[in-house]
Amino acid sequence: MTAKKTLSHTLGFPRMGAHRELKLALEQHWKGDIDAAALEAVGADLRARHWVIQREAGLDFVTVGDFAFYDHVANQIQLLGCEPARFGFGGDEPVLSRYFAMARGVQVDAEHTCGLACNHGNTSEGSEGETALEMTKWFDTNYHYLVPEFSSTTQFKLASHRLFEEVDQALQAGHPVKAVLLGPLSFLWLGKEKEAGFDRFSLLEQLLPVYENILARLKAQGVQWVQIDEPILGLDLPDHWRHAFEPAYSRLARSAPPVLLATYFSPLQENLRLACQLPVAGLHVDAVRAPEELTGVADWLPSHKVLSVGIVDGRNIWRTDPDAALARLRPVADKHQGALWIAPSCSLLHVPYSLQAEATLDPEIKSWLAFAVEKLGELQTLKAVLNDDAASVQAALAEARSACAARRSSPRVHRADVALRLARTTADDDRRASAFPQRQAVQAERFALPLLPTTTIGSFPQTADIRAARAAFKRGQLDEASYRQKMQAEITLAVRKQEAIGLDVLVHGEAERNDMVEYFGEQLAGFTFTTNGWVQSYGSRCVKPPVIYGDVSRPAAMTVAWTTYAQSLTPLPMKGMLTGPITILQWSFVRDDQPRSSTAQQIAWAIRDEVLDLERAGIGIIQIDEPAIREGLPLRRAGWKAYLEWATRAFRVSASGVADRTQIHTHMCYSEFNDILPEIAAMDADVITIETSRSGMELLRGFGDFKYPNEIGPGVYDIHSPRVPSVHEMINLIQKAAGVVPIENLWVNPDCGLKTRGWPETEAALLNMMTATKLLRQKLAPNSQPKATEDS
Ligand code: GLN
Ligand code: ZN
Repeated sequence: MTAKKTLSHTLGFPRMGAHRELKLALEQHWKGDIDAAALEAVGADLRARHWVIQREAGLDFVTVGDFAFYDHVANQIQLLGCEPARFGFGGDEPVLSRYFAMARGVQVDAEHTCGLACNHGNTSEGSEGETALEMTKWFDTNYHYLVPEFSSTTQFKLASHRLFEEVDQALQAGHPVKAVLLGPLSFLWLGKEKEAGFDRFSLLEQLLPVYENILARLKAQGVQWVQIDEPILGLDLPDHWRHAFEPAYSRLARSAPPVLLATYFSPLQENLRLACQLPVAGLHVDAVRAPEELTGVADWLPSHKVLSVGIVDGRNIWRTDPDAALARLRPVADKHQGALWIAPSCSLLHVPYSLQAEATLDPEIKSWLAFAVEKLGELQTLKAVLNDDAASVQAALAEARSACAARRSSPRVHRADVALRLARTTADDDRRASAFPQRQAVQAERFALPLLPTTTIGSFPQTADIRAARAAFKRGQLDEASYRQKMQAEITLAVRKQEAIGLDVLVHGEAERNDMVEYFGEQLAGFTFTTNGWVQSYGSRCVKPPVIYGDVSRPAAMTVAWTTYAQSLTPLPMKGMLTGPITILQWSFVRDDQPRSSTAQQIAWAIRDEVLDLERAGIGIIQIDEPAIREGLPLRRAGWKAYLEWATRAFRVSASGVADRTQIHTHMCYSEFNDILPEIAAMDADVITIETSRSGMELLRGFGDFKYPNEIGPGVYDIHSPRVPSVHEMINLIQKAAGVVPIENLWVNPDCGLKTRGWPETEAALLNMMTATKLLRQKLAPNSQPKATEDS
């Protein structure tokens, strides 16, 4: 009797390269420094190297089709021949230039402001020409894909040879190939209708023949497997979408090589049996996000099918505990009669490339981590053990065991003082002393702000000069005193400009912050930073998330010196600026040894300490930014309530230590907030500033209907473009806002921080904003009588 052999594979690999070679090449190409052929050569070289790494780690296939010059969904749009007609492509333009036209728009490409994560959809827009495809978050990751556009005139045809060429490249290099495609249902689901009344689901019938064609081609080329990703099986789907899987896959199976249907990111739940019974040769499940479903899958999956278990976390950077993984895998191997494969839970696109480049990371913490390359090594170890060849991986196994044991018991991770403090918290810690109406009265008296108070969101233009000073200080080329002087000069400049513009509540400008999460992470205990831990956010943009490895606390004040310096320059109220606990959590790699909610509470207490220090130092208005609160929502609606409860509690804990007379602001941007308005209200900030201007204040209607109880500053101009909006435009927006929000609760401010803008347009836009506000103050003042005409 021969024991069955476990195989290993990966759902995808990071594209950028060990040193972000792809980013570099892309940006050179866009500048015109290298031509398309040179860019293609960089791509081919990266693929070749990544396949070698996969083979060297003993994977049984290389994965082909996960590479993209910008985004894999954009690749699929070209493969399926459904580039939107609005781009007016004639068909003879080079494929790559059409590709970048869709990705980046035909004219100008607008910038981001929000630092680290660039977490917004809708990031590109042309002032003329054709705007780029909309960009939005890939499920609950920080990767952004380009949104396919559909209408009744959309047609599909096999239109790009890129995938087949890449398959040839891999075959010629002698690799066994598993090609990967985004499945037809997920592809349609992730797109958007561009025509009123049209339902993209109706395109399925037309789309399937093209998939059949693609699969037949791949089969003829000699690929061994095709991995078809249908991550939407982990979402709450309407019935007609669920019911479409069976017939669609029956049809595809006819022409296809063996198909591995891949699901990931969330539990299959009501789709579990459906996924197990589809007419495909294998199923991949995410055993990190849904370990509880493994037994059910092993029960339901027919014995002739391959079961691929995503056992290594593709979304986080922790080393896999081999014993825990084996304990999970062994019963499945026994139960499932058919073949067993092991893999990362999802594509490794979402983790950095390799730890090899981390020369300065604390060696002990480093030993607790695994990036993409190391995760492939983990698969190799697990596979050897499962295949009764543990002897060949003895050293790797021992090293992993001792690192995981050390992490479990390390006092750097588990701190008694933090635990004690959290244990002492009471139910009241997340409640302000008085309800909003009382606070509002006290604050109105204290600050005596005019009707329609004006402010900004926090950051002012980060000039090349500022960035150079910060970098020099970091490298040790600028001493502390000179650095402080330089930053103080920037603060002074920002304060004087704000006074000249006439703003009511000032900010210090955030010149000292390179990023709104990193700045705090660097000063909090329990965080560490990599030097090369880049993860693709969109296109050539990468982010380097902090790593939260241990209990979080705040050893010393983080912002008080800068803020009080700024306050010392002016009699006007100076707003203290902090990043909120959920945004810090969302934009970091977080611990996997305790619930996210626990980490959020720890960060909340650290931020609360800072809030109280600011208050003690005389700062009367404090803003706690939470732009990422919505993106933490679980993929399944059933999980929303629990998340929102702990997330809003974390915010309130951070904000509620202050007296009634201290005014707490929060800021949110670039999400759909209408479906979580009660929870936003439950955060109980005295003032919320929020992005609204792009949608023509659509968002605000939600706030009006819901009767948002506290004060609110809807953004009256879009900071993502250098365009200076007119006084007239802003008057219109403020008036619209005044139609739905009681005027005495209304603030006036831009949409978001101004760090990516230059000073000239910033000053011009803010001046127009002030002019608009002043005109409206005269017009709208609740008790201003219309002036009687003196004489006639
Ligand atoms: N205070 C931050 C800034 O102005 C807020 C950024 C954000 O909303 N992401 O830059
Ligand atoms: Zn913002």
